Amino acid sequence: MKQIDADTFLAELSSKARLRRQPESVTFELTYGCNLRCVHCFNPTHRALPQELSTSEVLRLIDQLAELGVLTVTFTGGETGTRPDLGEIFRYTQHLGLLIRLLTNATRVTPEFVALLDAVHVEQVCVSIYGATASTYEQMTAVPGSYAAFHHGLTMLTQANLPVVVRMPVTTINHHDVQACRILTENLGQKFQYCLDITPTVTGNLAPLEYRLSPARKNAIDQDMLSNWGAASIEDTCRPTDEFIECDCGHTRFAITPYGEMNLCTAFPIPRYDLKTGTVSEGWELLKRTVDEARPNNRYDCATCAVRSYCRQGRNDAWLETGDMSVCLPHYKQWAELEHRTHALLHPRRPD
Ligand code: SF4
Ligand code: SF4
Repeated sequence: MKQIDADTFLAELSSKARLRRQPESVTFELTYGCNLRCVHCFNPTHRALPQELSTSEVLRLIDQLAELGVLTVTFTGGETGTRPDLGEIFRYTQHLGLLIRLLTNATRVTPEFVALLDAVHVEQVCVSIYGATASTYEQMTAVPGSYAAFHHGLTMLTQANLPVVVRMPVTTINHHDVQACRILTENLGQKFQYCLDITPTVTGNLAPLEYRLSPARKNAIDQDMLSNWGAASIEDTCRPTDEFIECDCGHTRFAITPYGEMNLCTAFPIPRYDLKTGTVSEGWELLKRTVDEARPNNRYDCATCAVRSYCRQGRNDAWLETGDMSVCLPHYKQWAELEHRTHALLHPRRPD
């Protein structure tokens, strides 16, 4: 019998799901409440407002996810650890046979939290790291003492042998700490990823972009990290295709907000289908139509763009920044051109 590892198994399932247009992965934002106030955050409130989903509403949606054949639920926030009903939600999700992934800032980890993650066989715990020292970390989070809480939490998760990945959003504040964060992570025996993309808030506020690195600085970080790509990697989210909306959203994945809105992705908050009055199954049909009927307008240049294979702009980036999915954003164009030139220098015989 052919033996494959879990990652290969999930990748094969994902590829089959895409062919069948079957949702297999959901990002479920349980709350916008968070104990930190990160400068680059796309969270619109940092507070849990009364319209957030109740426990019974969350469980009802998880029932529907299982009925629809979803395999993996990634719970995120805000900070999921601020929800007092997290244990009930996780146990119910596991009981229905769904795989659980979790995004957390790890500042509220307790022995009970660790025991819960172990009991529900969490498939991945993705911990955000904002800096390798208290000074840098807390310039990012704006909360004194948060670095010590994070470090303690990450150490506890590590000691419990949970499947941790440490992910760093790189900004103008912490970019000098990328290697130090990698070393801190690897010294704990964990995998390190970094992410160079900073997006506007989900409500279209551009303030987080103030902390976005220039294309030149992003390119320099990639070059510096090249030698470590065996252990560290750029965050891998969606797989590009030739379609207009070129990622997996609306093909095999979608997202749910704390208010019960069903969207293509946490960073692509359309079409805001209301799950408080409708069903996940009906919402999925609307999401598929949203992707299939999206068409470029006369501002769309990607089809003939010479640097397309180097471009990291998604349709969501254009939509969040300008309200028009077709637009080419100068930041991403400069970044792609720089990548193109860098690759030409590294591989002078590489054909265009
Ligand atoms: S921990 Fe996450 S949700 Fe909380 S403020 Fe920071 S980036 Fe935003
Ligand atoms: S650089 Fe602009 S035109 Fe080229 S692929 Fe990227 S978004 Fe499209």
